[in-house]
Amino acid sequence: MTEEMVWDLSQLVERTDSAWIQRQLKLMVTEAEKFRDKYRGKIAGLEVKSLAEMLEAKDGLYLRFEGALMYCFLMYYADSTDAVAKQLNEAARKTIATVGQEMAFMDIELGKLLSEKPSLINSPAVAEYKHYLERILRRVPHMLSETEERLLILKDKNGISAWEMLQSDWLSTRTFDIEIEGEMKTLPYGKMVGLYQSPNRDLRRRARQKVYENLGKDKIVWASALRSVCEDHIQMCKLRKYPDPMTQSLIANDISKQAIESLMKAIEKNAVLYQRYLRIKAKLMGLPKLANYDLTAPLPEMPDKKYSWKEARQEIVTAYTGFDGEIGRWIDEMFARHHIDGDIRKGKTAGAFCSSWIAGKSAYVLQSFNNRMGDLFTQAHELGHAIHAYLYSRAQKLGNCEIGSCIAETGSIFGELLLAEHLLSKIKTKKERQAILVQILDEFGIAAFQVSARFFLEKELYSSIEQGKFLDGETVAKMWVAARDRICGDAIDWLDVMKWEWTKSPHYYMANYRFYNYPYVFAQLFVYALYRLYKEQGKDFVPKLKRILAAGSSESPTKLSAELGFDITAETFWEKGMKQAEQFITMLEGTI
Ligand SMILES: [Zn+2]
Repeated sequence: MTEEMVWDLSQLVERTDSAWIQRQLKLMVTEAEKFRDKYRGKIAGLEVKSLAEMLEAKDGLYLRFEGALMYCFLMYYADSTDAVAKQLNEAARKTIATVGQEMAFMDIELGKLLSEKPSLINSPAVAEYKHYLERILRRVPHMLSETEERLLILKDKNGISAWEMLQSDWLSTRTFDIEIEGEMKTLPYGKMVGLYQSPNRDLRRRARQKVYENLGKDKIVWASALRSVCEDHIQMCKLRKYPDPMTQSLIANDISKQAIESLMKAIEKNAVLYQRYLRIKAKLMGLPKLANYDLTAPLPEMPDKKYSWKEARQEIVTAYTGFDGEIGRWIDEMFARHHIDGDIRKGKTAGAFCSSWIAGKSAYVLQSFNNRMGDLFTQAHELGHAIHAYLYSRAQKLGNCEIGSCIAETGSIFGELLLAEHLLSKIKTKKERQAILVQILDEFGIAAFQVSARFFLEKELYSSIEQGKFLDGETVAKMWVAARDRICGDAIDWLDVMKWEWTKSPHYYMANYRFYNYPYVFAQLFVYALYRLYKEQGKDFVPKLKRILAAGSSESPTKLSAELGFDITAETFWEKGMKQAEQFITMLEGTI
């Protein structure tokens, strides 16, 4: 274990003994109860000054205990086998749930007050909470009575959530027999997914074949689940007066339908660009055509350059500093203050994430650092989230730090592009250039294009149900294949069983999670467009990106972009993102 690769969580709290932390959690609940006693049933009669005080008090309550809560969660992610960490994590979760219940009255009463007196929103006393209040007001027409809301939660618990559990249990309890290097093995789903990235092409093919063949055998179950989830959503839309199956998601993401329509038009129009990339990747892999199991596969004979922690720090700090000195210093501070846990050890959670520490105007990052180039990109990505937090925590009230998923990836993906640019500027071989470009273009292709196919499918599902079509497994499979082909054309050979690909996405079975796909597409293309603007405008662009990141959720992405001179409701904006992707693709083509 290297000391410098382990994060220092002690900065989050005054004291690290668990008794003190448990007392803090109890105190948070007591403070929330006091808040409830002071304001419940009284919001309708509040003068605007008292309203501002209440909002400040709510922010203060969360900020005061944020460090203690984070300490519990992060300690658990760092070692889920540690008994103290388990206890604290459990206690923190309970605290959050209890505080949430105590405070639930606030949005409902605020909503009522604002719909009766909408002019309050423009009052200077609550100027810093303007968009926070606007977002509450936008939800009001779709809220039901408290009793109805409670009933709906109960309905989902044993309704849709049961489908979600069933799907998850199916995936986690199945085993698959597969031959690996001459030996028969019986593997769980998680291990089978790991084989998808194998350098052995035949193994990749057989792993996919096995998994999807088995998923397809239970098509009756998946179709039944999907039908229930979709039909339930249609009923809920009627009950909540959403004009369209997408409205709920648009409100949650604080985005307009027009922006998403333009985005999707740009995607469909540029599917040929993605197909061009897929053909180049096939050439790089020495294949006449890619099969679906080659999509994210590693290129053969790639340089396996290793980076030490120190080298990674240097590359990433340099990449970000090239964009902006202040941002570069903050990135370096993340390393210097030990806010990144890159160490690999037992009990640590897999994957990577960044957790904003708003009270501390900083963040913590977790990843498993394996010294590979991919780990540098993960680090640049998570540190981009950290920079986002550095900026909005300095500029905004807590209520404006609820970053919607369309905007949440702006700092992170931009950071990856800065790293790519920096690494490309110093590489020496053609193979290295290919490795970097494929790294970013694979990600772009999946997030912007492959995910769009899932959006097309979801749209198709709702319009089919509305037309009274019955969705059995084969019908959904046909719709999925059509959606996928709108994106990939004939650039990929698909295994026949891949028509069951839709069955394995857990999100399709989650309650209140319809149309979750387009934010990934948005985020990817939004950042590519911004990066293109950076390349066009140079240093003039830097304060614009910082302004977007510092705005947090204080303005809608559409309004914020308009203020900075970009119109995300117009296709031309999204075309800029495509131009950037095209430039990377042309660069890659030039290496062949
Ligand atoms: Zn991210």
